[in-house]
Amino acid sequence: MQIPFLDLKSQYLSIKTEINSAIQNILDNSAFVLGKAVNDFEVEFAKAHNVKFCVALNSGTAGNHVALWSLGIKPGDEIIVPANTFIATAWGATLCGAKPVFVDCEPDSYNIDPSKVEGAITNKTKAIVAVHLYGQPADMDPLKKIAQKYNLFLVEDSAQSHLAEYKGEKIGSFGEATSFSFYPGKNLGAYGEGGAVVTNNSEIAKKARMIRDHGTLQKYQHEIFGHNYRMEGIQGAVLGVKLKHLSNWTFARRKVANKYKELLSGINNIKLPKEMSYAKHVYHLFVIQVNGNAKSNNAELRNALANYLNEKGISVGYHYPIPLHLQECFKYLGYKKGDFPNTELLADSCISLPIYPELNDNQIEYVCSNIQDFFNHSEENDHVLLSNVKSN
Ligand SMILES: *Cc1c(COP(=O)(O)O)cnc(C)c1O
Repeated sequence: MQIPFLDLKSQYLSIKTEINSAIQNILDNSAFVLGKAVNDFEVEFAKAHNVKFCVALNSGTAGNHVALWSLGIKPGDEIIVPANTFIATAWGATLCGAKPVFVDCEPDSYNIDPSKVEGAITNKTKAIVAVHLYGQPADMDPLKKIAQKYNLFLVEDSAQSHLAEYKGEKIGSFGEATSFSFYPGKNLGAYGEGGAVVTNNSEIAKKARMIRDHGTLQKYQHEIFGHNYRMEGIQGAVLGVKLKHLSNWTFARRKVANKYKELLSGINNIKLPKEMSYAKHVYHLFVIQVNGNAKSNNAELRNALANYLNEKGISVGYHYPIPLHLQECFKYLGYKKGDFPNTELLADSCISLPIYPELNDNQIEYVCSNIQDFFNHSEENDHVLLSNVKSN
């Protein structure tokens, strides 16, 4: 059996007629950049997250940038960002000329640890970016309290968490602005690049709208500095179709996650993802942690498991193998190994299993029985498997 990490084709086939006609409509009208399909999508996407405004962009990275830019973040400012996230979260700060300041994650939610945030605040700090990583909301109430106490902006990076909920409310309005990504592999994915910023604040929405289109609201009148971050018409059309299916797909993802948890619950060497009491997790990723044994450390056993699964036709990923504070590009910030133990432990021990709405029970059972087999034999197989480990 072959189980890819992602299966975008089977999803396309399930909605092919709708998608093809939506794209045809864009071609017929030559509405290639922004236009009606993008406007319509903005309205529906805002509704889906109970926010007033949505500004569609051409990537999630643009969303990270525009969210902070619209808030007036500038060179010299410091922005608090989790060390455990995809690099684009930090680009939001660097693209504004600001300095990212990293904070460790919690050991169970894998999201920014609110109890560590105050220690990272200085008189230059302007904003906290909370990432709802893997599809699970960060703990927003304590973050909100800290933001209020120090007069900081709170921003959400929801690239992995469309329709996720915190204490029964959709993410997207806990901070001043929230960015989303519609990269094809995300829970809501375009057929190319895509992103958005949502907000309840009309001033921020207006600024984001201007920034995405060269600082204009009216052609050739450039009131402020801007960029070209406009969403393409075809992406708006595709996203409009796919948004209608998103809550069903989210339901299916949660079902896959529950099945994984049920079938993997008896394995001592792994730690399963935990859905926090305040969260409705949308399982963009299903990340487990591998605990080493007497013979192999965490990373060795994790890499051996990945190799074993690859040999069985199962693709897996690591999210993320090098924490942000240890990235070459952030060397100038002066962090070192040991600064953020929870994030570093996760980097060495994490492995992401295939998860998508279309994954069926047979496939899930195949993945789980192979993981079980690996651990049943891991002691005796250690020497063989480890010799095969590819460095990554
Ligand atoms: C994917 C992602 C982004 C960036 O989105 P792109 O659309 O790829 O630019 C930002 N933050 C997080 C947490 C992401 O997972």
